[in-house]
Order: sequence, then C-alpha cells, then structure tokens
Amino acid sequence: MRKIGILTSGGDAPGMNACIRGAVRAALVNHLEIFGIRWGYSGLIRGDIVSLDRRAATNIIYQGGTILGTARSEEFRTKEGRAKAIKMLQDTGIEGLILIGGDGTFRGGTLLSQECGVSIVGIPGTIDNDCYGTDYTIGFDTAINTALEAIDRIRDTATAHDRLFFVEVMGRHTGFIALESGIAGGAEEFLIPEVPMSIDELSRRLEKNFKEGKRSAIVVVAETEQPGESFHIAQEVKDKTGFDSRVCILGHIQRGGAPSARDRVLASRLGTAAVQALIDGKGGYMVGEINREIAYTPLKDTWEKKKALHSGLTDLLKVLSD
Ligand code: ATP
Repeated sequence: MRKIGILTSGGDAPGMNACIRGAVRAALVNHLEIFGIRWGYSGLIRGDIVSLDRRAATNIIYQGGTILGTARSEEFRTKEGRAKAIKMLQDTGIEGLILIGGDGTFRGGTLLSQECGVSIVGIPGTIDNDCYGTDYTIGFDTAINTALEAIDRIRDTATAHDRLFFVEVMGRHTGFIALESGIAGGAEEFLIPEVPMSIDELSRRLEKNFKEGKRSAIVVVAETEQPGESFHIAQEVKDKTGFDSRVCILGHIQRGGAPSARDRVLASRLGTAAVQALIDGKGGYMVGEINREIAYTPLKDTWEKKKALHSGLTDLLKVLSD
C-alpha cells in the first residue's frame, strides 16, 4: 500500500483534528502518501481531494471541528453515487481509506469497500459515545465537560432563585452524555432512555425532595427525536405538581470547542492505530480503545450491536439522586 485517504463524516466532534494529525504523522513515518478528502462522502464523489503533508497537520491538535469539513451525503447512499466515488479513488490511486465518523459512515464505507476492494478502517468520532467497540468515542469527553460547565452555571442561578431546571443535553437517543455530565454536575434527576422514568414518578420524586427541604433542583434530560422535548416535560411536571421551572437546551455548543486532553490523546492514538491497521491488512475493522488497549471491532458490529451504558454508573443513580 502506497497511498491512503482520510475523511471525516457525519456529525463533527472535538478531537477529529487531533486524529487527522495522528494519521498524517503515522502515514508519513511509514512512507505512505496520505490524501485528505474534504466534506466526507460528498467531497469524495466530487473529487475534492488534497494531498496532506506534515505541514497540513501543524497546529491543529487543539482545534475543534475538522479541517477537512464534514457532511452527510444522500447521493453516496446510491450505487451510482458510490460509483463516482470509486472513480475518484481510482484516479488518485488510493488503496486504503480511514473513515472518522459513526456507524452510518462505516456502513457506507463497507459498501464502498465491497464494490471496489478499497481497504477501509473506521475510527469512532462522535460526541454521543453511542458506538459499539470502544469505551469512548472521540469528542465525548469534551462534550461532557462542556455540558458540565453549563450545568454548574445553571446550578448557580437555580440556587439563587430556588428554581427547578431542566437541562437538555445531546445524545441522539442515548443517555451517555446525560449520565456522565449529570453525575458530575450532581443532577437531582435523570431522564435517559436506558433507565426509563415516567413523568408521574419524576413528579413524585421532585415533590418528595421539595417537601424534605430541597429548594432547587436540576433534571438532566437526554434529547429525544426532536430537540426541545424538555419544554413539554416541564409543562407536564407543572401540571402535576404546580412547580414552575426553566428549561435550558444546550444544543450544538456541545459539538464545538477545543478538545480535552483525554480526547486529544485518544484521537492521536486511534489516528495512528488506523494507519497501522491498514499497513497490517486489517481492513474492515474499527479501531477503538477498550480498557486502555487498542481494540479491533468488525465494522458490521458497529451498526448491528448496541453499546450499553456502564451499569456501574447507572447503579450510582440509585444512590446519588435519591
Ligand atoms: P453521527 O454519529 O455523527 O450521526 P454517522 O456516521 O452515523 O455519524 P450518518 O449521517 O448516519 O452519520 O452517516 C454519514 C454518511 O454515511 C451519510 O450521509 C451517507 O452518505 C453515508 N451512509 C450512511 N448510511 C449508509 C448506508 N446504509 N449506505 C450507504 N451510505 C450510507
């Protein structure tokens, strides 16, 4: 293998640049030519491909976002779209491809690999941490710290006004961000899909807490299909308890910002591991980190298997938020 490519796809996540940097450095050390494909699969279809030298990865380790840009491409879902992408890969002579993204990105890449034989390696890059085959995804640590900072600030104003707050965090149908940022922020209650709680029960618990002298509280809510569900929840709780509350939806601020040290280290490690996987002929795998060791997971497991919340952390809720 002499030429490899790298792209970022799906939602951006802090640490993607550190990962690109790691891959560029590893490629050059191993005398491989590395190309950056801009704007994910859309850019691949258009042939938006640039050669990355050492300088291209200078001073990007601390930057959020992705220097390559990211996108979602409907055209790539079609065989015709992928045929255009294949032609671009062949014209450039790219034999191995590193995909930084989520399970959708890996699914598309797997089809591409089956259709043209290009070797692919996935790297989990998403703030949601909902990727099977790794303890943490790139961007998650930064996102929970951003959410935590917001929760701490809300705590100040909640305490000052004796108020109930609902803080809605991202997570795309999973409770990873809500669970860890909520535990760290001392949230009183958690609404997360993996540990269901009815509005009746939430209302009862809040009433009990307030009766026992609590004067303010924070409920961390994992976003559902439609961001903003917390407004309805707050209204339902008010209808049942009479408690007035405020809602804060953190939204996309959780996606941005300088990556945390932990994300930079993870991203650097996975970027270099992905290059090594291509060199070793380990195409068709995602490189992740499990118990601090590099782990190789067949790509299809990433969309066929579901990662569970850490039971040690969900068990904590019974103690901490009581
Ligand atoms: P995130 O976790 O941030 O959403 P993701 O990689 O899961 O990341 P998706 O939007 O699901 O994000 O996928 C990214 C892109 O991968 C899509 O826009 C599409 O181009 C391609 N893709 C996803 N699923 C498929 C599929 N089944 N077949 C072909 N291409 C796909």
